[in-house]
Amino acid sequence: MMNPEQVLSKAQEAIKKDLCDHCLGRLFAQLGHGLTNDERGKTLRIIHAMLDPEMKRKPVPKEPDDCSLCGNLFEEVDLLAGYVLKEVEELEFDTFLVGSRLDPEIEENEEQLWAELDIVHSEPIKSEVNREIGKRVDAKLDAEVDLEKPDIKCIVDTRFHSMDIEISPIFIYGRYRKLSREIPQTRWYCRYCQGVGCDSCDGKGKMYETSVEEIIGEPLLELTGGADFTLHGMGREDIDALMLGNGRPFVMEVKEPVKRRVDFEQLIEEVEKDQRVEIFDLKYVSREKVEKIKNAKADKSYKIEVLFNETVEGVKLKKVLKSLEGAELSQKTPQRVSHRRADLVRKRRIKDIRAKEHIGESATIYIKCEAGTYVKEFIHGDEGRTLPNLSDELGVKCEVQNLDVIEIHY
Ligand SMILES: [Zn+2]
Ligand SMILES: [Zn+2]
Repeated sequence: MMNPEQVLSKAQEAIKKDLCDHCLGRLFAQLGHGLTNDERGKTLRIIHAMLDPEMKRKPVPKEPDDCSLCGNLFEEVDLLAGYVLKEVEELEFDTFLVGSRLDPEIEENEEQLWAELDIVHSEPIKSEVNREIGKRVDAKLDAEVDLEKPDIKCIVDTRFHSMDIEISPIFIYGRYRKLSREIPQTRWYCRYCQGVGCDSCDGKGKMYETSVEEIIGEPLLELTGGADFTLHGMGREDIDALMLGNGRPFVMEVKEPVKRRVDFEQLIEEVEKDQRVEIFDLKYVSREKVEKIKNAKADKSYKIEVLFNETVEGVKLKKVLKSLEGAELSQKTPQRVSHRRADLVRKRRIKDIRAKEHIGESATIYIKCEAGTYVKEFIHGDEGRTLPNLSDELGVKCEVQNLDVIEIHY
């Protein structure tokens, strides 16, 4: 802390530097709580005139016409605030933050001034510019300043009077049912052209015509005026598996939305025009929910239609299923995914298993198992890579006809 003599002598030196009230006051930002920097600057000039013997009988010095540090930047804040307001006019948001980009020379000169005057508690000019523009914007908007996670961030370039707006994404949680065996969960770009379009994908750039992600995301993009969307699912089902029952939890991320408030009823209606996907339980969530659902470990229940290569007696099927209830499986990475996953053995438990609609060479089997169980492999055995497995236990070949997820226990 400076003593009064030091304040006076530093103020005297600073006043000689031809600074505007803002720039003068900012050098003493730790003095006079609740004052603005220009109030501080004006006050310092008065104190200086009153106390400095050299100033006897001289009028209180005025602010210089041109500030040697900022070039009168603070005269422009009303104008800059007006630009911000115009720029965000069409956007929907509850929280915002104003930032700025200054002429780097101003910031360099400022540091030099601190060194010359040996001042250590000054406020940087950038933070005052941000605050002064922010105050004016705040006064005109029905929105709050948020320093941590604003819905929108406006970066004003004070040199070129240009502006960048960063719009934070919105996140909508929900659960989906997939009623088609022909669509994947997410967009699947052509492996040859990565989405550009080539001969092998008929110029579509995609391996599949559409996906759950697109069926939900496209109408959502319409409703929000966003730039792009990403579906984050709690795991995924195979393309040929239905996702039924209570649906699969997901979070939809919409990037750069113009509108942040969506009429969920309308969204549901738009999505369900495509009869392959249904959505429900929609609500707004924060970004953290994405990691949460991606890392969630939920038991799953499946309904599996199985074909046997020869007749299986009902009594035997019952007995085998009974013996598999609670079984711990050792599953080597299945052959079908071994090209993209490390070869390892996982232990997963079958929590519940029962058969319905069993007629000789086919049965519908209901299984509840731990997150991450390779269910198809448990049925056919994957050439002994999953043990125990239904095929070995029954002593017949088992083929999975259809597999549907009927419940995610989350
Ligand atoms: Zn200035
Ligand atoms: Zn292609």
